[in-house]
Amino acid sequence: MARQVLVAGNWKMNLNHLEAISLVQKIAFSLPEKYYAKVEVAVLPPFTDIRSIQTMVDGDKLLLRYGAQDISRYDSGAYTGEVSGLMLAKLGCSYVTVGHSERREYHAETDELVNSKVKAALKHGVAPILCLGERLEVRESGEHVAHCVAQLVAGLKGLKAEQVTKVVVAYEPVWAIGTGKVATAADAQEVCGALRAALAEKYGDEVAATVRVLYGGSVKSGNIGELVAQDDIDGALVGGASLQADEFTKLCAMA
Ligand code: PEP
Repeated sequence: MARQVLVAGNWKMNLNHLEAISLVQKIAFSLPEKYYAKVEVAVLPPFTDIRSIQTMVDGDKLLLRYGAQDISRYDSGAYTGEVSGLMLAKLGCSYVTVGHSERREYHAETDELVNSKVKAALKHGVAPILCLGERLEVRESGEHVAHCVAQLVAGLKGLKAEQVTKVVVAYEPVWAIGTGKVATAADAQEVCGALRAALAEKYGDEVAATVRVLYGGSVKSGNIGELVAQDDIDGALVGGASLQADEFTKLCAMA
């Protein structure tokens, strides 16, 4: 089954509001409508920009998708600072990253919390981009494949096969995020292939063939082509390079 390539730009905590609007306008101007038949493009801005991006996308009927970088495990209530799936769905978010390594590291997110966030996103029709990946010491120990498969299994715990088809998986080796050190295409394929094999074993071949598996970690226009040429890599989660309109649209064009 053909899986549509997805390129998602994770802006992290960057850009002011005007810069955010300007970046979306530039992406919209640079990518012709016919381009989206080939590649799905999404931006994941800070929460504070989502409403404006929704207005632009809806108003100009842009094919660009957008989403958020985090979600609460709860729908509503006394959870100061949290943003729920209900709220993201109302804002028209297609995607939300869950379990990004920066959240696991700086906000002590556990696999159990990540799993509950995956469920919260699915409950409200927002596709979770389940991020996972090994730290450098795990790769050096040779345990990286088992580590990533375990994170995948934990992140999807309790989901039905039909729900799993709506999840996007992002393999992001922690040592490659924001460091300029990209995994080789073969290294990335090794893990992404193992993730797909684990999906097949647990949920069946059809589910495994449907789920998109992205690579993330210092992806740029110069390396995206080689990465998406791999059998089990269906696109990229892009950090730094998604903040510059020229580089990001070039990267999308090469995907
Ligand atoms: C990320 O934050 O998900 C990421 C992949 O960042 P970068 O592309 O900057 O390595």
